Amino acid sequence: MKINPNFTLLPESYLFSTVAARLRDFKASNPDAEVIRMDIGDVTLPIPDAAVKAMHAAVDDMAAKSTFHGYGPEQGYEFLRDAIAANDYRALGIDISPDEIFISDGAKSDLGNLGDIYSDSCIVAIPDPGYPVYADANVMGGRGGTERDGRWSRLVYLDCLPENGFNPLPPDAHADVIFLCSPANPTGAALTKAQLRQWIDYALSHDAIIIFDSAYCAYVASTDTVRSIYELEGARRCAIEVRSFSKTAGFTGLRCGYTVVPRDIEGVDADGSRRPLRKLWLRRQTTKFNGASYIIQRGAAALYTPEGKAQVAANVDYYMKNAARIRTAMAKAGFETTGGVDSPYIWAKSPLFSDSWALFDHFLSDLHISCTPGSGFGTEGEGYIRLTAFNTHELTATAMDRVLANAKG
Ligand SMILES: *Cc1c(COP(=O)(O)O)cnc(C)c1O
Repeated sequence: MKINPNFTLLPESYLFSTVAARLRDFKASNPDAEVIRMDIGDVTLPIPDAAVKAMHAAVDDMAAKSTFHGYGPEQGYEFLRDAIAANDYRALGIDISPDEIFISDGAKSDLGNLGDIYSDSCIVAIPDPGYPVYADANVMGGRGGTERDGRWSRLVYLDCLPENGFNPLPPDAHADVIFLCSPANPTGAALTKAQLRQWIDYALSHDAIIIFDSAYCAYVASTDTVRSIYELEGARRCAIEVRSFSKTAGFTGLRCGYTVVPRDIEGVDADGSRRPLRKLWLRRQTTKFNGASYIIQRGAAALYTPEGKAQVAANVDYYMKNAARIRTAMAKAGFETTGGVDSPYIWAKSPLFSDSWALFDHFLSDLHISCTPGSGFGTEGEGYIRLTAFNTHELTATAMDRVLANAKG
């Protein structure tokens, strides 16, 4: 059996294992040091109570013959798709219908699986730095070309730099599929409405599609950005929106997300005929996916009740208090920072360090704070670190006191 040759092209991913190894080594040689984790890429608060109650009731449904649920609809239960359409879209004046919503076991799966419905000849554009799935899944699908110094020959890179406020604008080059993430992981930057307008115009004029990763939409606070790309005219014809309950409601371990494929969005077949992507994605999901768990979907639906909404908002608010504290302290200590306004991530660079791992080591050895080196998210991440707002208020405050004391000393 010959393996998919694209896997041999992919370099190993050492980022998180190297961070973990350096932390282990440091703790072994400094057993008394109290290391504060600001590299946590996962939520830490428990599931909102409304969802917990709904899931308990759903377990009881499974235990009785009259309410047992076996295989569910591949696209997801109507009760959840209706709640999403009403609350995440109609409430904002956006026209998305329940049959354009596909429930899944999370955004990461969908972001990778969408590659099934576009050609391996497509030119794919991805942000640099960016969420690693965009590049790696497309390399597995044969769209990477060859790798050199951390860049793939067939991918178009959208550089997120201080010069553009870490928000890339459309390139001169052509792309067929564009991955955008806003608010972004790892930089925390959010595209403005005017910038997104340019992207939609680019996609429509290039007959391209935008895959809009909106995993952090619940953190949006600025009025000049969007929670959904469909807030903008024309997006229904060019954008697929991918969302998740992971960062919004702590579902990282429960697994639930959804993808919106509007009826208006089309691709071109080998004969040049236009075909609706929604039908392709439905075919893909009904063939390879048997639906998310009934219990988890009941939990997700409960997030749209008044109690659920209030509990989600309280959790987001908890993290955003940390984000504000980190942003302010880091800036005061002389770091160049972005993010932390519409996102639980703060992206930071020091005038004293040009290398991400050197800055990581400084944080760990001198401040006893762990973070994530930005170079792990792409070549343009070099020099930066990512700090996350997922720790407690107390430990976040202590960590920032250390940063400020070090800056003074
Ligand atoms: C965490 C994250 C996801 C993945 O979400 P899941 O639903 O847990 O798979 C997707 N995109 C970005 C940018 C993320 O940070």
